[in-house]
Amino acid sequence: MSGSQEYLMLEDVRNANHTTSIDPRREKRLAYKRKYRQEHNDKIKEYSKKYYLINKEKINRDDKEYYKIHREKLLSYAKDYNLKTFHSRKDKRSEILKNYRLKNKPTYEQNKRYRLKYKEKVRARKILKRRIEQGEILKPLLCSSCGKCTTLHGHHHDYSKPVDVVWLCLECHSKIHWKINHD
Ligand SMILES: [Zn+2]
Ligand SMILES: [Zn+2]
Repeated sequence: MSGSQEYLMLEDVRNANHTTSIDPRREKRLAYKRKYRQEHNDKIKEYSKKYYLINKEKINRDDKEYYKIHREKLLSYAKDYNLKTFHSRKDKRSEILKNYRLKNKPTYEQNKRYRLKYKEKVRARKILKRRIEQGEILKPLLCSSCGKCTTLHGHHHDYSKPVDVVWLCLECHSKIHWKINHD
């Protein structure tokens, strides 16, 4: 998660902690805010990004302080959020993604550009796929990081070794690439 995303999440947590009592006027205000947010989503995102960049140090310092004081609360909130929202929206998310991919299928030109840009990657994937189809490589059933039984991705540490892969579930695979991109 990037700093500014983290900041936005903390902001949500703060807001959530204050919505315990129901006051009709407050509700109305919140509804208005929500609507405003929805309508001006891009603008707000851009603004908070800018704001974050300018006030980075102060925000990070404040967040650290806040986190120190409310650690338990924040952790339990994050856990709840993951259980309730993240997992319950999984199907919906994958459906949205599928629709998006169908609508935005890459053109031949885009595919070609990708193939040229990531020559080694594409080659490694192709070789691996063929070996699996020929039965030379057996795809395991469990993620080698978390042990979950699901669809697995072959992660290449080195694209010059196409069959040298670690088998990971989508989540563990994303985590690894996130780390690679942010180190
Ligand atoms: Zn996993
Ligand atoms: Zn990978």
